[in-house]
This record gives sequence, structure tokens and C-alpha cells, in this order.
Amino acid sequence: MKALHRLSIPLVTLVLVGVPVFWAFPDDLPVARSAGIVLGWVGCGLLLANLLLMLREVRLTEFFGSLERMYTWHHVLGTLAYLVLLVHPLAFAVDAAQHSAHQAWATLSPWRERWPIWLGWAALICLMCGLAAAFSRKLGYPVWRWLHGLLVLAVLFGFAHLILLGLSQTLLFALLLATVLMLWRVLRIDCGLAARPFLVDHVETHANGVLEISLRPLATLLNAKPGQFAMFAFFDGPHFQGCREYHPYTISAVDSDGKLRIGVKSLGGCTHQLQSLTAGVAVRVQGPFGSFLRDRGNGPELWVAGGIGITPFIAVLRGEPLGHPVRLHYFYREPADAAYVEELRTLASRQATLDLEIRVGLGDAQALANTLPDAGTLAGCRCYLCGPPGLLSSVIGILESRDVPQDAIYFERFDFR
Ligand SMILES: Cc1cc2nc3c(=O)[nH]c(=O)nc-3n(C[C@H](O)[C@H](O)[C@H](O)COP(=O)(O)OP(=O)(O)OC[C@H]3O[C@@H](n4cnc5c(N)ncnc54)[C@H](O)[C@@H]3O)c2cc1C
Repeated sequence: MKALHRLSIPLVTLVLVGVPVFWAFPDDLPVARSAGIVLGWVGCGLLLANLLLMLREVRLTEFFGSLERMYTWHHVLGTLAYLVLLVHPLAFAVDAAQHSAHQAWATLSPWRERWPIWLGWAALICLMCGLAAAFSRKLGYPVWRWLHGLLVLAVLFGFAHLILLGLSQTLLFALLLATVLMLWRVLRIDCGLAARPFLVDHVETHANGVLEISLRPLATLLNAKPGQFAMFAFFDGPHFQGCREYHPYTISAVDSDGKLRIGVKSLGGCTHQLQSLTAGVAVRVQGPFGSFLRDRGNGPELWVAGGIGITPFIAVLRGEPLGHPVRLHYFYREPADAAYVEELRTLASRQATLDLEIRVGLGDAQALANTLPDAGTLAGCRCYLCGPPGLLSSVIGILESRDVPQDAIYFERFDFR
């Protein structure tokens, strides 16, 4: 990743934290009180950066490196903001403790305060609940999403807290920016103003619970490279009820007339509903995102796909003849689950540089270890992996034990959020 992309998020965060702190830096106050004020503004700046990183815009994802990187930093900055804002009232209590223990307790006790401070506590509680939900892997996506929305409430309570405290210039800048960022997210991303209209052209069943959906553009084409993904929201049709939420799917082909194809496996609520999808249903598509398999060089490559994780690889194979040797290992759980097998065999028969290995063994660490190439074959190889988290961690472990350096291993996670 270029240095500019690597540094972009820390630099933007530094500006968003530095400007309000510089502006509102207190003069002539006791150290603990000054620390309390500065920590409040640091938390505010971190939250602004956190809000900026929830904007799923193509250009922003390119500037910041990738959507996954933005989401990772979004979580890190949200956690940091929470920790800093937790210490913020404690610093005021330390300041008050210099007068008396009673005064220190009065600073912290919500029962003795009024609206400005209650709102501050409400913001902290919402932040805590939203963060707890954000890191819970077990919550279903729709519940997770609503609980994550508590973070927006935390920001609103936080600003109400500041307004009632009567802070002016700096507050205006932060408030305006936060409002713009939240409106941007709701209108362009959640309501779909940033998305393009498509229509389902046809639907084909490829394996047990796996569909390939072809989508026809109704307006501008999506300029996607093979292996990139986009966010898709399916709406209602005459015999179909769409779940209308944006979900990420890899673009498995971009046809010459601009039609997109995606392979979708039934996994939970929305993907299960898609199994009864029919032609003519309206779809909105936002993207493209991601750079997995984009800047690949000319050396030998190992590709490992698990289940529906085959989609980025099939996209590349459909798009262009391979210029260098590629060994593709495709693992699936049951024979009935294996999508694209015939097509892969046909593609391999036409390309001498593609060495194909297809087998049952997803979830079986020993089968993976026995099948993957030895250290000698892997020397100098770039390795690209896509599949369920269990497969990724097993394969990364095997590759590292066979002396493949970390910077030669690239993977696409299908479960980041
Ligand atoms: C970059 C990327 C590429 C993907 N490509 C494909 C593909 O080509 N084919 C395919 O079948 N699946 C793909 N997926 C996975 C697909 O997005 C999920 O299977 C789908 O969203 C599940 O939705 P659901 O309502 O059926 O299940 P749920 O039960 O709601 O979700 C199951 C899991 O899917 C993930 N998920 C759900 N909704 C979202 C969302 N809006 N954003 C991010 N993650 C979500 C979560 O980890 C969740 O725990 C991809 C995911 C990512 C992140």
C-alpha cells in the first residue's frame, strides 16, 4: 500500500483532533481541569474521524486504502473515543478532589447534577452499548446494525451536552461537521443516493443454495475490475420480497454490455430470501470497492478458495487469460455445495498456466495441510485466499509454517462489518 494511503487515516484523525484541541485549549486553569477539557475535545475529534470513516464512498475508500481498512479504523477510533471520554469526567473529579472529597463525588454523581451533565452521561452509556454491540460477533446483522445506531445517539447526546454547557466557536465547527457526516451517511449510503439502478436480468442455480444473478444496468455502468465487490440492495418484484438492505457481494463477471454477475450463497435472512428471486426485480448497486487480486505482479501464485469464496477467482479467470502460473485449490464442504466446478474445469482445460485442484475438505485442517503445496513449491509464490474465517486462519497458519512471508499472503474476508 502506498505511503499516502497508509498515512491518510492517522493524518486526517490528527487534524480532526488537533484543530478543536488547539482552538479550545484552556489558559490559566488547574492542570486536572485543563486535562478534563482537552480530553473532552480529543474524544470529540476522535468521534468526528470515526464518523468520516463510516462513509462508504468509492473515492474515499481508494484514498483511505480500502473499505475494510476504513471499518477497522472506525472501530479503533470509536473505542479510543470511548476510553478518552470515560477519563474526561474523572479529570474534573480529580480537580474537585483538591477542594474536598465531597465536591469530587458531586462532580461524578449524576443525581446531583443537571441536564448538561446528564446528557454527557447518556452519551457515554450509548457509546458503551453501541461499542459492546459493535464487537459482538454473535449478534445477527440486523440487530447488530440497530444497536450500532446507538453510536449516533451518543454523538447527538454529546453535542447536546456541549451546547447546554454553552461552548461556542469550536463547537459550531464540530457540530456542523458531525451533522454533515451523519446526513451524508443516511442519505447517500443508507437511503441509496450513491447507488445506481439495475434490474435482475436472469437467475441461475449453480449448486445447493448458490445462485448466479445477472444484473442489467438501467443508467450508468459500474466500472468494476474482476474480483472487486459492491453493495447490492434487492427490492420487491411481482413474486419476490426483497430485504432492501445493502449487502456486499463479489462481482463474479462484468460482461461487455455492462451486465454484472454475482454468485450468492444462502447463509442468513437476506441471502435465503434471494433464493426465490425472479427476473425484473429492481436492484441498487453501490461500488465498486476492494483491491483483492488487483495489483498482482508476474510471479507464480497460489489461490485458495473455500465455498462461495471462489467468486473473486472465477471473476479473474472469466475476465482475462492468465499471464503467469497459478495453482488454484478450491475446497467445499459437500459435493452438492460446489458451485462453478464444470466452468472451472473448462477454463483450466483452455489455460496451460492454470493448475486446478478441487476437493471436499473445507473445515478439515488435516486435509488442507495434506493438499497445499510444500515449502519448496511455495518459495517465491504470492498467496491469495478467500473463504470462511476458519479456512483463512487454517491456511494462513499452514503457509506461515511453510516459510511463506506474511507480506506474500493476501486475503479477502467475507465477514467484515
Ligand atoms: C467483501 C465481501 C464480499 C462478499 N462476497 C460474497 C459473494 O460473492 N457471495 C456470497 O454469497 N457472499 C459474499 N459475501 C458475504 C455476504 O455479504 C453475506 O453472506 C451476506 O451479507 C449475508 O446476509 P444475510 O442476511 O443472508 O445473513 P446474515 O445472517 O444477516 O449475515 C450473516 C453474516 O454475513 C455478514 N453480513 C451480513 N450482512 C452484511 C453486510 N451488510 N455487510 C457486511 N457483512 C454482512 C455478517 O458477518 C453476518 O454475520 C461477501 C462479504 C464481503 C464482506
